[in-house]
Amino acid sequence: MSVLIFIDSADGHVKKSSFEALTYGAQLAKQLGTSAEGVLLGNVSDDIAALGKYGVSKIHHAANDTFNHVDAQLYTKVIAEAAAATNATVIVISNNLTGKAVAPRLSARMKAGLVSGAVGLPDTTNGFVVRKGVFSGKAFANISVNTATKILAISPNSFSTIAGEGTAEVVAFNPTVDTPKVKVTATNKVTGQVPLSEAELVVSGGRGLKGPENWGMVEELAGLLGAATACSRAVADAHWRPHHEHVGQTGGAIAPNLYVAIGISGAIQHLAGVNRSKVIVVINKDPEAPFFKAADYGIVGDAFEVVPKMIQEVKKLKGVA
Ligand SMILES: Cc1cc2nc3c(=O)[nH]c(=O)nc-3n(C[C@H](O)[C@H](O)[C@H](O)COP(=O)(O)OP(=O)(O)OC[C@H]3O[C@@H](n4cnc5c(N)ncnc54)[C@H](O)[C@@H]3O)c2cc1C
Repeated sequence: MSVLIFIDSADGHVKKSSFEALTYGAQLAKQLGTSAEGVLLGNVSDDIAALGKYGVSKIHHAANDTFNHVDAQLYTKVIAEAAAATNATVIVISNNLTGKAVAPRLSARMKAGLVSGAVGLPDTTNGFVVRKGVFSGKAFANISVNTATKILAISPNSFSTIAGEGTAEVVAFNPTVDTPKVKVTATNKVTGQVPLSEAELVVSGGRGLKGPENWGMVEELAGLLGAATACSRAVADAHWRPHHEHVGQTGGAIAPNLYVAIGISGAIQHLAGVNRSKVIVVINKDPEAPFFKAADYGIVGDAFEVVPKMIQEVKKLKGVA
């Protein structure tokens, strides 16, 4: 019996969401009185043994270039093989894009109950009950998982990373690799930007910014803060910004430490994707804008006056000319 954590990586680096999954899995293993082990697919340049600081004792590493690109079918088969080899009764995976593609397949393949979007450790005092967000974060449901093997896909940014001391034993894992059914012929990447799903700080713009030509100040503020940029659906639909930046019920769901909303009304569908943010700052010229009800800090004012002033102040703080 063990807890197996899937360690997701991209471009040769372990993703931040994996640190959360490792911490979660290690704490769960402690709770269950068992060991926590990780499985990492593909080649990474990071120090794999150092991931032991999150509490895993052993990492099974399949250092095979075939796994450098996510192939959900292949990943499912290989993670199931790792689960069998480690006698895993719980598999922990981040509910990021990879997790959303892999976890349901793994659940079907292993006949294992799946909780996608788990936000806390299970209550194991009477069964195995896991809390997850439902109705776009408006409520929580406690899901009782009764299958022998359980899969928990945890919501990114819902569980704090805890790093201690220690290193993990890294063991070679050589799963049987079938010829992939999917062949990646090209990858188009946005470089030099903080990926939205991993970002701790996000600066977002809405229709109040009037047009794509005014995004310079949003990008400048985001750049100074080291933040990712996002937008409302209205903005993406108008092709002012790319669709991958659109957050909300029909876009990405994010939970950064800081979400700055500029000229966004705060429609319920937008809030559904951002209401798990730790701190929300709203800039809107309409004091009645619904977003203010969800805000921790609000500035009633014209974005074209407020944002340049914010940029100046951040520059002063950072000592940038
Ligand atoms: C099924 C469904 C799903 C949807 N999914 C999503 C989703 O995932 N994400 C999403 O965002 N929306 C979604 N929507 C759309 C949503 O209902 C809103 O229409 C949309 O969020 C509005 O975008 P907005 O706030 O940028 O624009 P608007 O509603 O036009 O608001 C613009 C805001 O800017 C303010 N403003 C104007 N000028 C300035 C200025 N100079 N300075 C400061 N503030 C200013 C205004 O006061 C206003 O509050 C969905 C709708 C439906 C029906």
